[in-house]
Amino acid sequence: MVIVMRPGVTEQEIEEIVQLLHETGLEAHISRGEFRTVIGVIGDDELVMQVPFQAYPAVEKVVPIMKPYKLASREFQSEATVVRVNGVQIGGGTFTVIAGPCSVESEEQVVEAARIARRAGARLFRGGAFKPRTSPYSFQGLGEEGLKLLERAREETGLPIVTELLDVRDLELVYRYADVLQVGARNMQNFLMLKELGGQDKPVLLKRGMSATVEEWLMAAEYILKEGNGKVILCERGIKTFETGTRNTLDISSVPQIKGLSHLPVIVDPSHATGVRDLVPPLCLAALAAGADGVMVEMHPRPREALCDGSQSLTPEGFEAMMGEITRMAGFLGLK
Ligand code: PEP
Ligand code: MN
Repeated sequence: MVIVMRPGVTEQEIEEIVQLLHETGLEAHISRGEFRTVIGVIGDDELVMQVPFQAYPAVEKVVPIMKPYKLASREFQSEATVVRVNGVQIGGGTFTVIAGPCSVESEEQVVEAARIARRAGARLFRGGAFKPRTSPYSFQGLGEEGLKLLERAREETGLPIVTELLDVRDLELVYRYADVLQVGARNMQNFLMLKELGGQDKPVLLKRGMSATVEEWLMAAEYILKEGNGKVILCERGIKTFETGTRNTLDISSVPQIKGLSHLPVIVDPSHATGVRDLVPPLCLAALAAGADGVMVEMHPRPREALCDGSQSLTPEGFEAMMGEITRMAGFLGLK
């Protein structure tokens, strides 16, 4: 349930309501908008019903939230959440491109990729140091050495780093190097990890599980929000269907769905959705047209030499050409 306060309420009046909630055994999440303050009430519905909110003149109305997720819902917060990472904005009328190789392989590869990404207009750099591979015999990533190389790429280009946290036991380590912590599709319902990420202060890029519904995905986001970290970026990366022409099936409809259901920014990863390099540029444009706040794509200086996901990685030339198309279309749509 959400308590919408009247415009112009004082801090003391807000505090009074928060106090009342705490005394009743409920949690309060305050969100201060430009015009109104709303207080999200989390806890047992039975307890919520006992509180005489309407008796308080500072309360304008009480809105029940019927969805299983609360803090992630549009009802809770009508304005779009904007996540800021070292001066780069995700959400709120921008289209942000995140690019980089699937995995960190060497200093030369990662620094070169970051330079290409920055030159063409990417705002964040991605690369995995811990890789979730289907086969235990495939390249698993360079681990801490890979994180150090990502740090080198950031020093060289200034691009903030997005990298995956594969195992919650590595949180302290990955936190030291990452600017955005990625939760991979396979960990979307790793609730222990989500809770830990909710208790730290860096943004989290939460990929959709390959068999997760939009509602389950938003409930995963709720785990992070509930622990106090509001900096969640959702990432659609395709879901499993009967189609075999692509690695997964990009559910582009999830983008406008999320926009209606949630205030959180949502981006699209067409690289993992398709597994096919040539399908990446048109689907980036589709994401832009569907209202996504950005895309994350794999790009490698020499895809043929990639240790992971070479066939879906854009070449530097392909990436540059695609950035040109994105810029033109974003301009047409009035986005930055
Ligand atoms: C990735 O982005 O590196 C990745 C492994 O993607 P996903 O978790 O979506 O499969
Ligand atoms: Mn990959």
